[in-house]
Amino acid sequence: MKSEPITYACCSDISGKLRGKGFPATDFKKRLLKGVGWTPTNVQITCFDTIADSPFGSLGDLLLIPDAATRTQLDFGSGSPVEDFVLGNVLHLDGSKWECCTRAILQDALDRLVAATGLTLFGTFEHEFTLQGAEQGKGLAFTAGGFRRERAFAETLMATLQAANITPDTFIREFGTDQFEITVTPTEGISIADQGAILREVVQIVAERFARRASFSPLPVAGGTGNGVHIHMSFRDSSGIPATYDPAKPHGMNSAASAFIAGVLKHLPSIIAFTAPSVISYQRLVPHRWSAAFNNLGAQDREAAIRLCPITTLNGADPHSQFNFEFRAADATASPHLQLAAIVHAGVWGIEQNLPTPTPTAEDLSRLDLQELSNRGIERLPASLDIALDNLAHDQTVRSWFPDGFVEVYLAHKHFEISQVAEMTKREQCAAYAEVY
Ligand code: GLU
Ligand code: MG
Repeated sequence: MKSEPITYACCSDISGKLRGKGFPATDFKKRLLKGVGWTPTNVQITCFDTIADSPFGSLGDLLLIPDAATRTQLDFGSGSPVEDFVLGNVLHLDGSKWECCTRAILQDALDRLVAATGLTLFGTFEHEFTLQGAEQGKGLAFTAGGFRRERAFAETLMATLQAANITPDTFIREFGTDQFEITVTPTEGISIADQGAILREVVQIVAERFARRASFSPLPVAGGTGNGVHIHMSFRDSSGIPATYDPAKPHGMNSAASAFIAGVLKHLPSIIAFTAPSVISYQRLVPHRWSAAFNNLGAQDREAAIRLCPITTLNGADPHSQFNFEFRAADATASPHLQLAAIVHAGVWGIEQNLPTPTPTAEDLSRLDLQELSNRGIERLPASLDIALDNLAHDQTVRSWFPDGFVEVYLAHKHFEISQVAEMTKREQCAAYAEVY
């Protein structure tokens, strides 16, 4: 029997997973119009395959409509099936936006940025992950030897990303045990998050080809090295010209960039519930892990929640096109669409409020007492997902950015997730999350 190629239509949901349905690839055009049926309560499927309280119950029907621009077809040859998937938006049957569609939520945020400033977002997600299944052992952090052992994987990954229309930038044998990092070049608007979601899938697809598994868990092993997601952002004007850098301003941030960053830092204690949304995310977000423990800006400081990335004029390089800032309080247990939506809304809010330029910190903030931190307008980020969710629940400004009903659904999902691991030790929690991310 000849096999029938399948396209898998999916959406990035609250759990940060891509979930969807397959159909014969020959129906692709037809499915762009009529989509595939989708069930509201699916949004409450947690990362552990349990279902949180759902306001929808067994009721309702939706459509998942693919966006052809995101179709990813990967032909590895040698007769193996072609990987073929496409991201989409979840709509009501009448075509209106569904309040829990993460992609529509991000589009709203990006539209708000354009409406408020005329600027578009340019950016990319930088991912760290642990490659399981062939333990490398010690002594290999950042080494040529550690890289060489995974050269075949790295080269296949780079080729596969290119086939997915994602341009690889660097592949790194990171610091942690069996830890790697992949960076890819920036893109614009909704495709920043699409690219992040597709990349995670591509890394996993390539790992599977090598009979391996990649874990993007923020902390695969309790007490070990964390896997961060760093979200790089800058702006372009309506002609596509870089519009983030102003050498005359403090630390090169133009007025849009500084107010945007100030807005994100202000609401970070609440929006972190979207950007670092697992129980173990908060075992990573502590001082001295090069993650983020305070709502601070740093100029090239890897302990800052937002870091101004370096620029160089070496060999005639143009600082305007390089200048960007990096959001570090994120991990891959989140939907990239929700992460970016929360950040962009908070940033635009900062611009609308005309917030003053934040001052970068350049010291170990964990040594300052609460009074000193508060004098500088800095606070310790939530120490648990529970606290982050409480902050979100009480932050009416942040809640107002999302469609009616969405935040309630999100809170119910995440509280249920907490209950699933509440009786576990930290070690057991890390193991549970490493199995599913
Ligand atoms: N692994 C660190 C984290 O958890 C990041 C290290 C780096 O700066 O690349 O975020
Ligand atoms: Mg790194």
